Amino acid sequence: MSKFLLELSYLIGSITFILGLKMLASPDRARKGNLVAAAGMALAIAGTILFHEKEGAPIGNIPWILAAMGIGTVVGWLMAMKVKMTAMPQMVSFFNGMGGACAAIISLVEYHSHPEGSAGYLLIVFLGLVIGTVSFSGSIVAYGKLDEKIKDMGGRYLTYLNLALLALIAVVTTLSVVSPETFGHSSLWILLGLSFLYGVLFVMPIGGADMPVVISLLNSFTGMAAAFGGFLYGNQVMLTGGILVGSAGTILTVLMCKAMNRSLLNVIIGSFGGSASGKAASGDQTVREITLTDTAILCAYAGKVCIVPGYGLAVAQAQHICHELEKKLEDKGVEVIYAIHPVAGRMPGHMNVLLAEADVPYPKLVEMEEANPGMSNTDVVIVVGANDVVNPAAENDPGSPIYGMPVLKVWDAKNTIVLKRSMRAGYAGIENELFFLPKTKMLFGDAKDTLQKLVGELKDL
Ligand code: NDP
Repeated sequence: MSKFLLELSYLIGSITFILGLKMLASPDRARKGNLVAAAGMALAIAGTILFHEKEGAPIGNIPWILAAMGIGTVVGWLMAMKVKMTAMPQMVSFFNGMGGACAAIISLVEYHSHPEGSAGYLLIVFLGLVIGTVSFSGSIVAYGKLDEKIKDMGGRYLTYLNLALLALIAVVTTLSVVSPETFGHSSLWILLGLSFLYGVLFVMPIGGADMPVVISLLNSFTGMAAAFGGFLYGNQVMLTGGILVGSAGTILTVLMCKAMNRSLLNVIIGSFGGSASGKAASGDQTVREITLTDTAILCAYAGKVCIVPGYGLAVAQAQHICHELEKKLEDKGVEVIYAIHPVAGRMPGHMNVLLAEADVPYPKLVEMEEANPGMSNTDVVIVVGANDVVNPAAENDPGSPIYGMPVLKVWDAKNTIVLKRSMRAGYAGIENELFFLPKTKMLFGDAKDTLQKLVGELKDL
């Protein structure tokens, strides 16, 4: 009976993961999807504690398990409640790293429980250890970079070092599986060290706007490592969860690579992006400012306005007032759309989430590929706290770290107005030629404050 109840809880858990993931695809149902999957996970955990048996006996150590769960719940809850919306990407990266660490620990424990396992078993143990450890150390470095605590560290030598480390990891894993009596125990710790180092070194050089690809890749690593854990335990719910995270992360990585025009191999050996370089700003370039009143008039009499949101929208929490502006303009007969760059903000789908929170209708969000051809017949583009995703250097400066990344061609529009606080650079740390183009006007200030005043001006028109 216990076995039946256990399997049933795993089956229901697996189904809720699939349903939850499906619901996450739509902003309206995403919150509910998250809860459905979390409820499934809670059921699977409860099922394991109550019904799992080891050699005919209950799992034991219940007080320890409950204490660990209690500490984890309190820490996770406090972190989630305290975190600012703009620091969410860092937190997600940190939690992803914890998942990788768990998977690696499972492999360490399992190896010591069954060091005499078959070659297939050992392969799964070692792969779980390597991938989980890489995910852990890589995610912690990604966390530090997103939090601006860690700077890019570049150089061609790192590419070669990473390739050498990967080759070494492959050789040690093979030897440990083929000849466990000779290499088994000590190679476990060697692999742990090598994987940790590789995780750090492959994320260290990546910068210049390419972090999103790495973050989704690390996410897929954690999923894969968890799936290996599911294999080791013969635990279906862990297997399903791991496969779902691993495959969703892999699909996202491929999509991100396409969006950034990068190759997956380059991500894996940490050989793109890097510290800021590219053309320096020439000192005599002119920046043209625009007043709020002129902006309001320009927008009110436009036929089509395109809003380009970026990370600054999240910092200013300007999504609600942005929606207000859109409604005000529509009342005046202006067509308004939002052009969404796939890596705008600091996490995949960041802009979609923010705008959905402000009840912006989903059909108004236009993806980059669709938005770019329409730029030339757009009267006004309002760039709200975006920078790298509208930087022409991606198209015309081969020396730029973002060269080759598709961007929103806002300079094709008849007028471009940029809302930001200063001339400071964006995430990639590079100058943006857009701000000096004759058609571009700067409207300096905090995005929320500026938009509030703009909506006020529109009311008076
Ligand atoms: P950027 O980081 O390039 O630029 C954001 C701009 O917003 C800054 O130049 C800043 O200028 C401005 N800003 C900040 N706060 C405010 C405010 N309160 N009011 C008005 N403006 C503000 O953002 P983008 O969205 O254009 O590009 C995202 C970047 O992040 C890309 O390089 C991407 O690769 C990277 N990234 C994306 C991830 C993802 O998954 N989406 C993950 C990791 C990195 P100022 O200070 O002058 O106001």
